[in-house]
Order: sequence, then structure tokens, then C-alpha cells
Amino acid sequence: MITDYSFSVEERFLRYAAIDTQSDPQSLSTPSTEKQKDLAGLLVTELHQMGITDAELDAYGYVYATIPATSSEQVPVICFCAHVDTAPDCSGTGVKPIVDRNYQGQDIQLPDDPQQVISTREHRYLQKKIGDDIITASGKTLLGADDKAGVAVIMDLAQYLVEHPETKHGRIRILFTPDEEIGRGVNHVNLEKLGAEFAYTLDGGELGSFTDETFSADGAVVNFYGISSHPGFGKGKLVNALKVAGAFLDLLPRAEFSPETTEAREGFVHPVRMEGIAEKATVEFIIRDFITANLKLHAMRLEQFARQAVGKFPGSSYDFQVAPQYRNMKEVLVAYPKVAEYAEEAMQRAGVTFKRESARGGTDGSRLSFMGLPCPDIFTGEMAFHGKHEYVSVQDMQRSVEVLIHLVQVWHERGYAK
Ligand SMILES: [Zn+2]
Repeated sequence: MITDYSFSVEERFLRYAAIDTQSDPQSLSTPSTEKQKDLAGLLVTELHQMGITDAELDAYGYVYATIPATSSEQVPVICFCAHVDTAPDCSGTGVKPIVDRNYQGQDIQLPDDPQQVISTREHRYLQKKIGDDIITASGKTLLGADDKAGVAVIMDLAQYLVEHPETKHGRIRILFTPDEEIGRGVNHVNLEKLGAEFAYTLDGGELGSFTDETFSADGAVVNFYGISSHPGFGKGKLVNALKVAGAFLDLLPRAEFSPETTEAREGFVHPVRMEGIAEKATVEFIIRDFITANLKLHAMRLEQFARQAVGKFPGSSYDFQVAPQYRNMKEVLVAYPKVAEYAEEAMQRAGVTFKRESARGGTDGSRLSFMGLPCPDIFTGEMAFHGKHEYVSVQDMQRSVEVLIHLVQVWHERGYAK
């Protein structure tokens, strides 16, 4: 345990959480909302105040900064990355973070809405956090611990390292991104400018969790074509594409192959949007599996249902397109086992039990990994994200900072040839 340092992660988190940084999937600009720069700009100012003079905010809303090496040895450049935006699913305006000191294991009633109770039955992790200081929102908004916990952890790491130059480490790059929650977090990242060899996102949940595997993901679009005719005179002629699409959705299995009925390592297909008129109807799907090769099998199976549906409506037709979205980061990380080994070693040194996890979703790290920057994810304590019941333990955030302090030293001691 690090005892000679008073962590700044809590006060930082409270300050960052109060700033509205919600991203907007409908926006075409980058960042999708200008207000994300309110936080990004503050982070640059705070980094400058720490003496990190090269901290800068670019036009796209990305923050780049360097913690200079304290060692003259050859050490790979490591990047720590977090996103400043919060999810569009829940309001992020007027967030009032509340600290429940020395939490005693009770359900947490949020003060601004009597309906909003964080129950320990639903949120079992809370039962392990007795004695911690738990931060929640007030009931009207999300908290934004996803990912302001990660932002605060990286900022506290920077402060620690600046104040403790005796800690030996190589060059460290800091990256804060906008628009992660709308899937555009790395669209405008400049990896050449970043100049890092390996990275870690700080965007994970429970104490000790380490994620180096994500889903692989495709999107599919199915178009059904009918035959339009005046409905008053449609007998024997009219074929309604909406009914074909309805029959198609009805053919989808209910007991498997769907997010409602799968867990752990099972994949699924999931309709996310449909629209249409009698002449043409479109259904959009996401396809997910940990094994990339399975995506093709899932798509073939999905297309079979489309074919069957069309078979029930003579005269109708369909087309079917699949496009890749992202890939399981493990396919990249498997070539760099030390990235995980060093994280495990750092957690051991911090007295934290390492828990390897697979994310049933994607992260910015999945895309960064395939762009050439291998990038698994480390815990921050953020829990129940994207909703009003979001919470984070101050002590979990502090342990996360501590893990990073050890991690940069492990990299320094062990080195790594890519
Ligand atoms: Zn996140």
C-alpha cells in the first residue's frame, strides 16, 4: 500500500462529474458536443498546473500529454487512456455527486427522486464495499463514473509521478478521448503523434478486473421488398414488405441466439432498428461473438430466416448485407502476453486480486488494438453505468491509481521488445 501520498482522485472525480459532457449520436461534428471540451480544457489546465507543459487539447477534443521518463533506460512508451464523454442514454446535465462516507451496506436512497433506490440485492458488488466511501448521483442524472473515474485515476497518477520523481518509469503518454459512448472515440486519434507502443484504457468496473477480450462485432442490414398496389384493388397483387419483415422477426429463435437468452461466451444476433412501408422494409441487426469466425455462421443463419420469410410471401424478395464493426482485441493481444502479465504483477504488488474478464461488448481498446496499439482495460471501480444508479467507490479508484503506479515501474524493470 502506498502510504506517503494523499490521493487526489476523489476531489478530482467530484469536480469532473459535475461537468456535463454527454455525447450525441445524432451530431455529425467532432466532438459530437462542444461541451465535452469544457472538461477536456480543464484537464489541460490542471496538467499544466502540475508542470506537464506539453498537455494540449486538439480541435477534435482529444487531450494529449506526456509524463516525461525518470529513467534513462530504454523503456517502451506506455499510454493511459480514458474517455471524457458520458452516455446519451441518461441525462448528464446538473450532475450532483454525493459521497456516502463509510458506507454500511444499506440500500442507497437517492435524494432528488424517491423512486431511485440503489438496492444491494440488485447491485451485489455494493455488499463488498462496506466501509468504503461510495459516490452516487442524486437521482435525476447518471453519475458519469463511466468514465470520469478513469479520467480522475489517470490525473491522480500524473500528480503522484510528478511529486515522486524517484519512481522510475519510462515515457508515459496520457490520452483523453471524446465520443467513446457513441462509438467514435478513436475516429480522430493521431497514433503517430501519440507515439505509444502499448496502452491501457481505464474504463473497467470491479476492483481487480482486467479485460483483454471483447466481442467481435458485425452489423447486418436486411431489406425486404414487396409489391405495392392500391389497397382497394390489391387482391392477388399486393405483397406487403412490412408483413414479410414481421414474419422474419417472428422466425428468430426465442430460447437462444438473442441477447435476452445468452450469457458468458455465447454469441447472438439482435435487431436494433426497423423501418419501412408496404413496398420496402428494412431491419438492422448487430451480430456478436467472441470468435470472429462465428460471426459468419450467425449471419448465414440469420439470412436463412430471411429466405424462409420471403418463401411465405410469393412475389417478395430480400437482400442482405453484412459489414464489420470491431474485432476481439484478444486476436491482437495474444501476441503481446506481457501487457497482461505486467498488469497482473502490478495488481499483486498493490494487494489487489487480478480477475481476467471478457467484455460482452466492445471498447475503444478493441479498435486501438487493431489500429496497432495493443490496449486492454483496467478497473476503476465504476459500476452500474449509463443509468441513475451508477456508483463508484473512492477506495477502488485509489487502488486503481496504485496499480498504475506499480505498473509503470514493472514496465521499467522488465522492459519489452515488441
Ligand atoms: Zn466507458
